[in-house]
Amino acid sequence: MKYIGAHVSASGGVENAPLNAKEIGANAFGLFTKNQRQWVAKPLTRESIKLFRKYCEEHLFEPGSILPHDSYLINLGHPEKDGLNKSRNAFLDEMQRCEQLGLDRLNFHPGSHLNKISEEESMKIVAESINIALDKIKGVIAVIENTSGQGSNLGYNFEQLKFMIDHVEDQSRVGVCIDTCHAYTSGYDLKDKAGFTATFKAFEEIIGFSYLKGLHLNDSKKKLGSRVDRHDSIGKGFLGETVFRLIMQDPRFDNIPLILETPDEDLWPEEIKLLRSFEK
Ligand SMILES: [Zn+2]
Ligand SMILES: [Zn+2]
Repeated sequence: MKYIGAHVSASGGVENAPLNAKEIGANAFGLFTKNQRQWVAKPLTRESIKLFRKYCEEHLFEPGSILPHDSYLINLGHPEKDGLNKSRNAFLDEMQRCEQLGLDRLNFHPGSHLNKISEEESMKIVAESINIALDKIKGVIAVIENTSGQGSNLGYNFEQLKFMIDHVEDQSRVGVCIDTCHAYTSGYDLKDKAGFTATFKAFEEIIGFSYLKGLHLNDSKKKLGSRVDRHDSIGKGFLGETVFRLIMQDPRFDNIPLILETPDEDLWPEEIKLLRSFEK
């Protein structure tokens, strides 16, 4: 089964996310469990948690179809002690929120070395940050997302994702999310059948599909290898429709959240319908 949805708004309370997802015809969704632009948020209320779980159950959203995303402020590979501690505390809070909501995975961008330490050093710090969080939280998988490699962002190829996984102690609770726009702008030419096949062959060889815990389905406003992260609506950017058709027809992407983060929310119902039509 394909779980298809979008990163929906949780404004007014996390319990609104499953309702917003239902509205657009999704059977999956992504969300922020707190305001993504703030370091500190009020704890989730018992009422919010109860309603979130109730609405998910009523509308048949399984934990395996939901992909929460952490705050963009967090940098788990931060080269400096203060910045790192702040990030680690905020990440732990995000993991706790997922646990409270009954969610089994948390998606995040690995981090940035800020040109102060090497990529390897920073990636080891990311892995250690994950270890610290996994030590304290049960039942939530840390899901590292690939990036475009903009600035000093880490995780722009499969080798780097694998490097971080290898430095995590409990590998049963680490996974990856592949963003199609990020993959393309970081240099994976997956827009036609040959490129798609080669990209996911490399993925299988370097990381392995058992680690794949979600996809972000985004077209790209920027060119192959540009290392710039600008999402476009499905079929409107440099990627085009083919890659999305191939994903929808490929059982390796069954039973994981496939989440749109495309810029025009009004198009989400249509985009979901389009993706569903590709399944046949
Ligand atoms: Zn993404
Ligand atoms: Zn992005």
